[in-house]
Amino acid sequence: MAKTLTDDKGNFTITFTPKNEKSFDFYCTGLGIDTLLLSSVTTFESDTPEMTFYVPGQHQRNSFSKTICPKCKRTDKVYKIEYEDAPVMTRQISKSGDTTYSPIYKGTYQESCIVGLARFYCNRDKVKF
Ligand SMILES: [Zn+2]
Repeated sequence: MAKTLTDDKGNFTITFTPKNEKSFDFYCTGLGIDTLLLSSVTTFESDTPEMTFYVPGQHQRNSFSKTICPKCKRTDKVYKIEYEDAPVMTRQISKSGDTTYSPIYKGTYQESCIVGLARFYCNRDKVKF
């Protein structure tokens, strides 16, 4: 894990040594904002690549205009985040009787009243982006 801070123009440098990671996930964290997945990179163009990240990340859509998760590159577990004053929790009771609460309700991820930068949530990777 490597961490870096941006300057007031948003520029940053980060140094890390690739080992056997399958992919490098770049997250953005900050005061009062969620951890956002900005980009998941599997290969770099060079040893010192110039990379630009957008906050929140640029959302790619497939040909069915479904938003693609930057990590798993799939759309089927991606939910749009709705910011509600009173988020709805869906209660799910499994066959064994366990009760779990899911923030996913009617196909959207219910976020609490704090409005974050994240626009989408992947329920497979548990990341917001
Ligand atoms: Zn995903």
